[in-house]
Amino acid sequence: MVETVTAKPAQAHYSFFKGVERSFDLAAKYTRFETGILEQIKACNSVYQMKFPVRIGDKIEVIEAYRVQHSHHKLPCKGGIRYSMDVNQDEVMALAAWMSFKCAVANLPYGGGKGGVKCDPRKLSVGELERITRAYAKSMRDVFGVNKDIPAPDMGTGGREMAWILDEFNKIHGEDMPGVITGKPIVLGGSLGRDAATGRGVMVSTLCALKKMGLDPKKVTASVQGFGNVGSHAARLLSEQGIKVCAIGDHTASFYNEKGINIQTALDYVKTNGGVLKGFTGGVEIKGSELLTAKVDVLVPAALQNVITEEVAHRINAKLIIEGANGPTTPEADAILQEKNVIVVPDILANGGGVTVSYFEWVQNKMGYYWTEKEVNEKHDLSMETAFDHVWTNAHEFKTTMRLGAYITALKKIEQGVKLKGFF
Ligand code: GLU
Repeated sequence: MVETVTAKPAQAHYSFFKGVERSFDLAAKYTRFETGILEQIKACNSVYQMKFPVRIGDKIEVIEAYRVQHSHHKLPCKGGIRYSMDVNQDEVMALAAWMSFKCAVANLPYGGGKGGVKCDPRKLSVGELERITRAYAKSMRDVFGVNKDIPAPDMGTGGREMAWILDEFNKIHGEDMPGVITGKPIVLGGSLGRDAATGRGVMVSTLCALKKMGLDPKKVTASVQGFGNVGSHAARLLSEQGIKVCAIGDHTASFYNEKGINIQTALDYVKTNGGVLKGFTGGVEIKGSELLTAKVDVLVPAALQNVITEEVAHRINAKLIIEGANGPTTPEADAILQEKNVIVVPDILANGGGVTVSYFEWVQNKMGYYWTEKEVNEKHDLSMETAFDHVWTNAHEFKTTMRLGAYITALKKIEQGVKLKGFF
């Protein structure tokens, strides 16, 4: 399934990378690490920008694309490729940095990376998308590699694009190298459980947080923003755990039902309705912004960055936020949520399920031996629970938020790697 690209972020001018640096600096104050090492951990190690011509309709268009390797403290780098008209260097740098911290929190043996192609997948034909994807893969021939840099899906891309990239890479190298990319279709070496993994991680994080808060999932309500690859699986898995999902929405429409939305009906509806919720009748239609301020216990922003702004934060009713999307909360909003005692399980922990199962996919590719879905899910759940506990412990030890607890967890691990590798 292709991850959904929804409406424009609330503050398109906002520097995402500065936001990452801000959280990083706050977390760094809790450590006694050497300044030079902290500077090295914060910086993006390599930034590749490329432009290539592609025939779109009857014109030649120059496509702008990026790959950022944020951290080389551990190789390979790992992270998805985003297709969106909002793609720019600053955004890809921020997303790559988050991958470094996310991989460290999840205890995966990777540095962070991210790719971005400035295009609107909704407006392109399949043939145009294939040409753009193959051109991008070709321009990255010396950057990607099984032990160098492994891409995966992100917003606007899915298994189909991963298959094209793999094919291009294999043709260049003259051999099958499935481990160069994750999130592939199963027949090409993908892993069972990868599709639902990010949503599954959101569910596991929610259960862990509810347990710490002493709340019974069966007595809890939730609102999920986004019904693409992350939100739809998250909503389904949360409702399977007995959580009453009262509000759901995508870029076409949002719905509220006090009695709980039947998520299976919504999934069936989306399947037969061109992949979107518009026209769904399982709840009353509400405004997209009302998803975030709905009177529920748990809020799962699983669509876009920067949707929880200061203004929204003041009106949030949920006592627990699980960040399914990357960067859904602005730093200003974060401060308000902290004042309101809302627990925020940050993106670099909560949506780490996707890259965790990407890691399992890569391991299976290297072994040439494949696990059952049950095995993958069990390993995933254990890994997410362990990561949650580390972050919770650090947050409590340092008397800070879960976000800073997650950054501290990541910093401790990365600092070790950087220091032990040594310097010039
Ligand atoms: N794009 C996903 C993320 O932001 C998955 C990355 C991966 O599997 O490498 O976590």
